[in-house]
Amino acid sequence: MRKKIIAGNWKMNKNLSESIALVEELNILLNKQSLNCEVIVCPPFTSLLSLAEKIKKTDIKLGAQNMYFESDGAFTGEISADMILSVGCEYVILGHSERREIFKETDELINKKIKQALSKGLKPIFCVGEKLEQREANITEDIVRGQIEKGLEGISENDMKNIIIAYEPVWAIGTGKTATPAQAEEVHVFIRNLIGKLYSTAIAEDIVIQYGGSVKPDNAKELLSQKNIDGALVGGACLKADSFMGIILGV
Ligand code: PEP
Repeated sequence: MRKKIIAGNWKMNKNLSESIALVEELNILLNKQSLNCEVIVCPPFTSLLSLAEKIKKTDIKLGAQNMYFESDGAFTGEISADMILSVGCEYVILGHSERREIFKETDELINKKIKQALSKGLKPIFCVGEKLEQREANITEDIVRGQIEKGLEGISENDMKNIIIAYEPVWAIGTGKTATPAQAEEVHVFIRNLIGKLYSTAIAEDIVIQYGGSVKPDNAKELLSQKNIDGALVGGACLKADSFMGIILGV
């Protein structure tokens, strides 16, 4: 049985005091519940250390939203795997569509980051997904296959045990448009079969594949009840404790 994992990607939102307030609120809500899933928060870098302290006695896990593939050196503005590990991160989001689109990250760069994260003991949440025009041109599977094959190039079967894949159709991110449960499930099945071909049936069965794209409390339950949807990567709806909680309770 795969465990479900709900991760909140705060993006470039919440300064330090706002971050602390959100996690304190979340702690109170989570405390009253018995949960069927793992919960990860991915705040901005500037809040990681303080939030690590705030979640120490809870089941919430911490993730960063990005990192660079080099260990250290003259890379102004970048953050290394060691740095995010040293402030309590267990996870790191890599290959998010906003990084691909706005910051021109390539599959090759994302592959280097995934390898570095794994070699340092971080668990990547590896994002893939097609744009609207690619879906309309019926090339969703080609796009997702390319991103996965290139992103995972050279990654061993053993390391695959520490990777989460997040399928996030770009047209559904922050737009309010969600893939229907059937549309999402179809791509999740495709991804799981692809992982089976690239690695093994056992790895394919075990890998957690999250869905992301305008997940909200009112659509989470149906999405998360699909056989191959093992959780959610949540943007907008994770910025308020009650809506993030509403998604968590949908598991
Ligand atoms: C995301 O950025 O990963 C995301 C899924 O955002 P939203 O939930 O706002 O669509």
